[in-house]
Amino acid sequence: MSWEIQPQLDQLRGEGLWRELRTMDSPQGPLLEHEGREFLNFSSNDYLGLATSAELKAALHEGVERYGAGSGASRLVCGSLRPHADLEAALADFKGAEAALTFSSGFAVPVGTLPALMSPGDTILMDKLSHACLVDAARLSGATLRIFPHNHLGKLERLLKTAQGRVLIITESIFSMDGDAAPLREIVELKDRYGAWLLVDEAHAVGALGPQGRGLAAALGLEGRIELQMGTLSKALGLSGGYLAASRQVIDLLINRARSFIYTTAALPAVAHAALRALELIRGAEGDRRRSLLHAHVEKVRSSLGLEHTSSSAILPLILGDETAAMAASATLRDAGLMVPAIRFPTVARGSARLRITLSAGHQPEQVARLIEQLKLLGS
Ligand SMILES: *Cc1c(COP(=O)(O)O)cnc(C)c1O
Repeated sequence: MSWEIQPQLDQLRGEGLWRELRTMDSPQGPLLEHEGREFLNFSSNDYLGLATSAELKAALHEGVERYGAGSGASRLVCGSLRPHADLEAALADFKGAEAALTFSSGFAVPVGTLPALMSPGDTILMDKLSHACLVDAARLSGATLRIFPHNHLGKLERLLKTAQGRVLIITESIFSMDGDAAPLREIVELKDRYGAWLLVDEAHAVGALGPQGRGLAAALGLEGRIELQMGTLSKALGLSGGYLAASRQVIDLLINRARSFIYTTAALPAVAHAALRALELIRGAEGDRRRSLLHAHVEKVRSSLGLEHTSSSAILPLILGDETAAMAASATLRDAGLMVPAIRFPTVARGSARLRITLSAGHQPEQVARLIEQLKLLGS
């Protein structure tokens, strides 16, 4: 076996799959500064514009003053501080669950949760478009992993009929690269009929959707019927970290068994303190105000570009197919001063490369108008 790296790099470049880091010299907001130039940012998951808000910056400062910089140890040693506990109580209430547990990232949530709950002999049924962290976590658990085609209820039901052991269905509520919604009501009915459990990842719905920004499950009145509700603090909440909301028993088991929770230093207490503030904001009038701005932007782009068939989430995919074409379109937009990423394999299937446009309450209407104008030019 050879350790030669260069051929792998050459192959990535050759296939239009090369990725590289681009350093921004400004905060992450509607405007980005990169290599001395200003760009309009349509690539962030900061859907409500909270990441640079005065409110969250002040809450972070306050958290640092009260609780210091680092947390010093893992949660089970002496790193479990007051804001961690208060945040978990607030998240449980927010998700209509008995309890919640926070992790240092959204990625760490399933990586800890699935191996703690599932074993070889059990079965995980997962929507094909589920996030990489769900796929990796399912593999790590040792359970049999079966993938059903995106949002395909018929195939899901067929898999439910033959699944062995404890059965867990996994889906996102709003899909990260397509922006469409899962048929949650139907999935909940199916899992009840077959005695399975359900994990829903609301990473892209929380804050942006539902009453008080509580997500798609809440919008459909399904919260009490979903065993495992996962989400992140790093998108609409504007900070970082992830959570799982579930029964007290499940949370107690995770505190004892979830390795990505146990063997890592607790999240910065100031972040937990600021996340409490972020939750208050998104649940209140300020959240409603920002959600209505966001939805006005989304509707404007959809109607101007004839995208009415797409979902009305903050994520608008323009699927181009070819990887190189998507890269070229993204480069054209960048030349015009717009940051819109080309999303390619392995994030999405080969041949389904796309521009992934994300909108934020932080955008000004003129900025959205410029996006529309440039996308129209791209299509002509
Ligand atoms: C971003 C994302 C995650 C990971 O969350 P982080 O907090 O960024 O680690 C998990 N699931 C989905 C669907 C995501 O889009």
